[in-house]
Amino acid sequence: MIIFLKNKKYIENNIPFLKIPFIKIVLNLIVCERWRQMIELPEAVVLSKQVNETIKGKKIIKVIAAQSSHKFAWYYGDPKNYNDLLVGKVIGTAVNSGGLVEIQVDGVILLLGDGVNMRYFVSDSVLPSKHQLWISFEDGSSLVNSIQMYGGMWAFPEGSFDNKYYRISKEKPSPFTNEFDESYFNTLFNEETKKYSLKAFLATEQRIPGLGNGVLQDILFNARMHPKKKVNILSIKDRIELFNSIKSTLKHMADEGGRDTETNLYGNNGGYKTILSRNTVGKPCPICSTIIKKEAYMGGSIYFCPKCQKN
Ligand SMILES: [Zn+2]
Repeated sequence: MIIFLKNKKYIENNIPFLKIPFIKIVLNLIVCERWRQMIELPEAVVLSKQVNETIKGKKIIKVIAAQSSHKFAWYYGDPKNYNDLLVGKVIGTAVNSGGLVEIQVDGVILLLGDGVNMRYFVSDSVLPSKHQLWISFEDGSSLVNSIQMYGGMWAFPEGSFDNKYYRISKEKPSPFTNEFDESYFNTLFNEETKKYSLKAFLATEQRIPGLGNGVLQDILFNARMHPKKKVNILSIKDRIELFNSIKSTLKHMADEGGRDTETNLYGNNGGYKTILSRNTVGKPCPICSTIIKKEAYMGGSIYFCPKCQKN
């Protein structure tokens, strides 16, 4: 998620349809950084795979939505209707759409957004007392979804959710596909984006759905570029370097089960060791041993090696 101030106007990426209290979210973000869950593209891929492995085929017997009130929990229509909408149905295939996890449930779509902590519990587990969407299955197991800062848990008849954020996440090519090639990447460079920093370029306005402030840190480290570096000074070679880093870094993250700063469906941290994150700030850079720095920038933190990543 990225929020930044430009011409006195907030521009947001991963927050689907927040209209008012951006500043509250920004403050929350800074305070809660250590505890928050933030699904981005690699984690959405991993969670979808785990849903397919673990809960696909299970029949829903009970749903409780909005049991714990949360200002920034979003639903489709009245969450009280979720039980009627989902009970008796069977969990189908899950796919990721950008940073969203989209689960087919017999003609209904269950769509889980980037701030949602999705957890699977086997039968007879002690369940968390607070949650925003609890789905109980016939075999006694559960999918418990909770949010810390914000998150969307939308359940709707297929085709009925007209939402720009969701639509864009489905329309634009994913860096995991061949369609996202060098010539497509080059179309992202235009009059508007040439004024941006690399952080703004990569992680705002859903230019690349699912690519947010978390994964961009290692993408830029691997490309040896500073998050504040301006887009308009990139050479052709730099663009290729950045393109390759987007592809390879995201793949590495997904292959390792997501980042170690996030948890998976079973509550375990991902196996990808972040190079730049809250886990590594103050530690030596793996390439040159310079101490990794953290700075506040554009409504979130950036991490970088001052020696390897030139501005
Ligand atoms: Zn370094």
